[in-house]
Amino acid sequence: DLLLLTVPQLLERRAAETPHRIALSAQSRGGWRDRLSYAQLVERMNAMARGFARLDLREGDRIGVLLTNDAGRECILTALGALRLGAAVAPLNTRSSDEELGHALALVEPAAVVTTTASAARIAALWPAARLFLVDAGTDAPAGAVRWPEPVEEAAGAPPPVADDPDRLTCLLFTSGTTARSKAVMHTHRTMIGAGLCCGTALGLGPGDLYQGGWPFFTSSGLNLGCMASWTTGAGLVFEGVLDNAGRLRLIAAERSTFYHGVPSVVHFMIEEYARGQYDVASLRRVGYGGSAMPAEVIQRLGERWPRVEPVQIYGMTESGPAGTVLPPEDRWRKYGSIGVPMPWCAVSILDEAGFALGPGETGEIAIHGPGVSPGYFRNPEATAAAFVGGAIRTGDVGHLDEDGYLFFTDRRKDIINRGGLKIASVAVEHVLYQHPAVREAAVVAVPHRDLGEDVAACIVPPPGVSPDLSDIAAFCAGRLADYERPRRWLVLDELPKNPMGKVLKTELRALLERGAG
Ligand code: ATP
Ligand code: MG
Repeated sequence: DLLLLTVPQLLERRAAETPHRIALSAQSRGGWRDRLSYAQLVERMNAMARGFARLDLREGDRIGVLLTNDAGRECILTALGALRLGAAVAPLNTRSSDEELGHALALVEPAAVVTTTASAARIAALWPAARLFLVDAGTDAPAGAVRWPEPVEEAAGAPPPVADDPDRLTCLLFTSGTTARSKAVMHTHRTMIGAGLCCGTALGLGPGDLYQGGWPFFTSSGLNLGCMASWTTGAGLVFEGVLDNAGRLRLIAAERSTFYHGVPSVVHFMIEEYARGQYDVASLRRVGYGGSAMPAEVIQRLGERWPRVEPVQIYGMTESGPAGTVLPPEDRWRKYGSIGVPMPWCAVSILDEAGFALGPGETGEIAIHGPGVSPGYFRNPEATAAAFVGGAIRTGDVGHLDEDGYLFFTDRRKDIINRGGLKIASVAVEHVLYQHPAVREAAVVAVPHRDLGEDVAACIVPPPGVSPDLSDIAAFCAGRLADYERPRRWLVLDELPKNPMGKVLKTELRALLERGAG
């Protein structure tokens, strides 16, 4: 029945049941960390809505947010104020180019953008129609900009009344931009709560948990995974500021976080840092990860470093909430290599080219059904019609289900390499490379080949101070991969290009190789 509520109603219910339980710990722009109980969060949400109404924002408006997680508190309170007002929030990528940001602003058409003084002129130049609300407004604020309505300063009173429609647009979440320009995915109260319930239940979150993660607010995971998985299950969210790996570990210790969640590269580097320093992670009971393929090697190391911490993998996408599948800790060895079973209330099918369902063992496109699936891409009916079919989302990912209903991820369709008609999963080659001691990180991509169409190129990052012996790594691959799967071209890099979510940008690697690198 939570699916009949709006997000503000869900929080009001939590506040009535467990007013004093921690709902949110987030970094403020002012350099301090705000810790709010459920009762306080509801109070702040209502004050934000009053503040926005005083600034003439209205039901149906869209409010952009261009802030880093160092203003995580301001990001999340803005979102809640917008939702309480009947408006929608659009988190914008702080790392995008002017061209990309201009595109996003023109698509979203925000009535106002919440940002910093430093970014105000940039937004004014790209989208002059938006009003600017500055979280750090001082004497140097540009003309016309106003101060973000700090909720603690707003007078008490009821926010403007709004019809409680669970299907109202609540947010526009941009995809990670791993394969192409980010797409704006629409979510509603119902899909946000649906995604939160699916993910939170699948992860095993509950009252008493403190769920920590460093998802940038402008990715789908900040609101829909971080906030909603916590609040639908009664847990508290520990929202990271902009931190390095040591900072993440120190925050776990300071907040006594019980659950850490990150993309595989974040988990990987965090356990590396853990081995170097003195960190207290005794409060941790679980580590969750997802967002890209997790090298088996890293799961192994996680088990060695933190034997009492249970690993849980999730798979999903912005379009699905990010609900999808879950591999619970008890299956980690029994179903090694699988990305799990459908989350509660979700279903997964494997489709052929024509969209018909395939049987166990047959490889095709993964489709996800469930209460977190978005109604579509914002103002893009063609892309919506192509990807959203019969209430399900066609993921663009390739995989198969086994006899027991466990999903195995082959690769993103766009990353599969076609070498003279033989299909190679880049992910499978990467898993082998990760096992070599002179490889700290690996990404495998296609390079054009005159006769075969495509060939396999491996981009590797050695551990600091190690100069890798490529013939040794090639021999290692030869012992573990089919002849046609072996990398034929090598590129050694200091680091892999990644997007702010921490996902490897294979488009950039392909461009590097095409320009002759390697
Ligand atoms: P874009 O759609 O803009 O190219 P993106 O697909 O990376 O970016 P997200 O919606 O954040 O944007 O990511 C979803 C994708 O991440 C999935 O479609 C899948 O390819 C990948 N992914 C998510 N979880 C996993 C996982 N556990 N294992 C492997 N891949 C995963
Ligand atoms: Mg995608």
